[in-house]
Amino acid sequence: MSKEQKRTELYELGEFRLIERLIGSFDASQKDTIKGVGDDAAVISCGNSDCMVVTTDLLLEGIHFDLTYFPLKHLGYKSVVVNLSDIYAMNAKPGQITVSIGVSKRFSVEELDELYAGIKLACERYGVDLVGGDTSSSMTGLTISVTAIGRAKADEIVYRSGAKINDLICVTGNLGAAYMGLQLLEREKRIFQSNNAAQPKLEGYDYILERILKPEARAGVIDKIRELGVKPTSMIDISDGLSSELLHICKNSNVGCRIYMEKIPIDEQTAKMASEFNIEPIVAALNGGEDYELLFTVPLSGFQAIDGLDGVHIIGHVVDAMLGAYLVPPTGEDIQITAQGWNALRKE
Ligand code: ADP
Ligand code: MG
Repeated sequence: MSKEQKRTELYELGEFRLIERLIGSFDASQKDTIKGVGDDAAVISCGNSDCMVVTTDLLLEGIHFDLTYFPLKHLGYKSVVVNLSDIYAMNAKPGQITVSIGVSKRFSVEELDELYAGIKLACERYGVDLVGGDTSSSMTGLTISVTAIGRAKADEIVYRSGAKINDLICVTGNLGAAYMGLQLLEREKRIFQSNNAAQPKLEGYDYILERILKPEARAGVIDKIRELGVKPTSMIDISDGLSSELLHICKNSNVGCRIYMEKIPIDEQTAKMASEFNIEPIVAALNGGEDYELLFTVPLSGFQAIDGLDGVHIIGHVVDAMLGAYLVPPTGEDIQITAQGWNALRKE
């Protein structure tokens, strides 16, 4: 490398700016490529009003999962579910997956059987077919890459870019649980490492543990609100934390937002674990990630249909881009929303 050649560290850009830089010069040349990079899944026209949606995710041992507490069967299940979540976030129905693995010789055949038992369970639960993949040896642990393919009518697909001023902002389920489950597992791992005789104390926290170890994708919620005559204007799944995903919707839709602190759904176990860690539950909900809930906007006219609907919470509304993105606490000043969610390339 010549002396003048500039070297930019990955953390200087961060994950999203890196992706933008790498793929910024790629133009779509195929007329059936409807949406390329930049949403939860790519959208490809199938020639008539039908579309195919495609998404892929890469899970690396030591980065995305720790096998000291992550059962292989759960890991198989989760690696499928996180991809299906991106398909549902487009308002599409998943149909097929491919699964590629890289395995070091540390793993036995029986262990990989376990991984695939979890993959099979997810396929059965969500009605998708495993149609291919690839298998390779690896120098370092386990790598899993899943690609999911789904279908939808072109006019039913919901992008990140359709939010309009005055729309209601909604989330499914509750937030921050997976993050607090992870904190609990990491704490017990540290205790075990310093004292091999210690028994992990996990009682009473089954729900938050399940949210990190065996998450579910939100199938069917959008169908339910559709039956009530409401269609989301924008949607994204919450993998990197509510703050980060809200900012994606705001940026892609060129709008701002107001969300209300007391409206953000947080489970009791999440709040209890957060207090043990001296973390504000709202911080876990905003920045935690791995919730795999859906964040979506609906027109204000959908209020009556959505208000009080089981498993759906109205947390705020869309405003003009000039007004920015803010969290409104019960008292005191509004807090600007910043993305502190998962950034794979942050400086250690
Ligand atoms: P999600 O969190 O929904 O899985 P990501 O944040 O991982 O989405 O990715 C954002 C967008 O960037 C997606 O459209 C994804 O397909 C695309 N993308 C991510 N990494 C790459 C890459 N290395 N090359 C091309 N496209 C990428
Ligand atoms: Mg997503």
